Amino acid sequence: MTRSTQSTRACPNCAADKAAPLPAYSQDEWQVVECMGCTMVYLQNPADYEALEEDFAWEKTFAAEDAMRHRRKSWIKRAARQVRILSYKLRRDPNDHYLSILGAGNILDVGCGDVVRWRAPFIPHGIEISKALQKTAHEKMHALGGECLLGAGAEVIWHFSEDKFDSVMMHSYLEHETQVSKILNGAIRCLKPGGKAFIRVPNFNSLNRRISGPKWPGFRYPDHVNYFTVETLKAVAANAGFDFKLVNRHKIWLDDNIQAVLIKPIIA
Ligand SMILES: [Zn+2]
Repeated sequence: MTRSTQSTRACPNCAADKAAPLPAYSQDEWQVVECMGCTMVYLQNPADYEALEEDFAWEKTFAAEDAMRHRRKSWIKRAARQVRILSYKLRRDPNDHYLSILGAGNILDVGCGDVVRWRAPFIPHGIEISKALQKTAHEKMHALGGECLLGAGAEVIWHFSEDKFDSVMMHSYLEHETQVSKILNGAIRCLKPGGKAFIRVPNFNSLNRRISGPKWPGFRYPDHVNYFTVETLKAVAANAGFDFKLVNRHKIWLDDNIQAVLIKPIIA
């Protein structure tokens, strides 16, 4: 495995380059730090995009970490996990759920993998960095009137025309993206005025992270490069020009994830 890494990066929120190391939350060569300007927590030396395409492809590292976590768990926790999976399957159709939040039309799913969750009245489009997953996604999306482009989200999002999309989906995506402002600037550009971006990221301020510390499931090395709180997520959204609305179903401090809708303002 090639272990090529980028040089250290500045804070993805405020661009300050002074950060305090968080050794308890770092692993091997992967350095998690806290920005001394705005308290944003992030991975300072992420793997570069080429390495992500092959060596650290999400589907491989996720499967490996998942198997490791699974072995560590007691039978009680494994049973609880099965109950959660079952209740997820019984829940409302995700297509209907997101339709009520985002509205119909052209949707761009950033980091879509090979799963196409969208059917009419959505017209699905995607961006996927893993070659194998993009090929499958493109075939499925093309049949539904859309397309899936291959590449890094922050680069490829600029290939779509301005004001093209009614919505942008960034589900479990922004925590992986080293170029936060570039992807959000790209998203606001390709959204229609009034269009919405849905974001779901791990919640660094959750009670579970405070209790579990380094064992919190939100830590993934080197896949997760940004550890947002509501405040830092709101700040990066505002920097790109978005209005921000929290849409968590549970109390935010209890929730392991932040769910938010970013709205492109309609300028009269
Ligand atoms: Zn900062």
